[in-house]
Amino acid sequence: MQAVYFEEFGVLPVLREVPEPRLSAAGVIVRVEATGLCRSDWHGWQGHDTDIALPHVPGHELVGVIDAVGPLVRRFRVGQRVTVPFVCACGDCPECDAGNGQVCRNQTQPGFTHWGSYAQRVALHNADVNLIAIPGDLDAGAAALLGCRFATSYRGLVHQAGLQSGETLVVVGCGGVGLSAVMIGQALGATVIAVDISTDALDAATRVGAAHVVNSSGLGDADVVQRIRALTPDGSGAQVSLEALGREHTVAIGIRSLATRGRHVQIGLLADDPRMPLGTVIARELTVLGSHGMPAHDYPALLELVVSGRLRPHDLISRRITLAEAPAALAALSTPGAPAGVTLIELD
Ligand SMILES: [Zn+2]
Ligand SMILES: [Zn+2]
Repeated sequence: MQAVYFEEFGVLPVLREVPEPRLSAAGVIVRVEATGLCRSDWHGWQGHDTDIALPHVPGHELVGVIDAVGPLVRRFRVGQRVTVPFVCACGDCPECDAGNGQVCRNQTQPGFTHWGSYAQRVALHNADVNLIAIPGDLDAGAAALLGCRFATSYRGLVHQAGLQSGETLVVVGCGGVGLSAVMIGQALGATVIAVDISTDALDAATRVGAAHVVNSSGLGDADVVQRIRALTPDGSGAQVSLEALGREHTVAIGIRSLATRGRHVQIGLLADDPRMPLGTVIARELTVLGSHGMPAHDYPALLELVVSGRLRPHDLISRRITLAEAPAALAALSTPGAPAGVTLIELD
């Protein structure tokens, strides 16, 4: 089969013929229909993820049709259209027993722990625990984006931060995951303030539901925080902030924008641990939360938002490319100023 393949971190991947993926007893092989180009793929290619063994095929945000099922699979059959959380749980450890497969101690991740979905076919493990059936008429982009960015934002905002209708949400960093948070916040009835240095990204944020934007380009961090707070009721700050960029100073902006008892959700990955304004966390009794994807059993509520049309992930897709165009698109994430929105890789 054809796949995007690299033998060395940071060296441009190539599209080439590779061996077929191996079917596990409780797993499936999925024929990939579409896969998102996610910044985590770029981090993996750069060598920032210790799970990756070379040579490697990236890709973890996918939708496709089941091509083969292992003998232990009970709930799924060949021909079904499915997606999968990028964290695939084992279904059989203390975390999974507690319903927290997103932090499963035996987790597998396509595109990290094994070859991923920048390929014609991908192996997915523990199918009964991890697969999510997708309606045949749902846009492939909408379905693929549920595998990583939308699920991570949704879990962060809904399950972790408990975002309520009528609250103010600040989203710092409006790439794909940030824009997904803007859309989810709006769909849930929050007032969303979007922050970025790019006019394009902020225009996109407005289109998908941000009530206010703050262009932080050229501003000091204190000014940015002041502008955000000025947009909140009585200037008292937001109830929830979400950082989707992964920079020390933007993490601090998110935290300092919160009202007393506010909740900060950290999604942006950082190469090094940041210094954080913990004095503010103490004085305002803030909560700092992580989000690491979402287990398959929590998908129905998110999928319902999408199927009903209240949440339209495919509106974020600004570019649809072929597998042959994927290596250059991945490499382009190395240079700042990438175009706003999400790139979707579509297979034949
Ligand atoms: Zn587990
Ligand atoms: Zn991702």
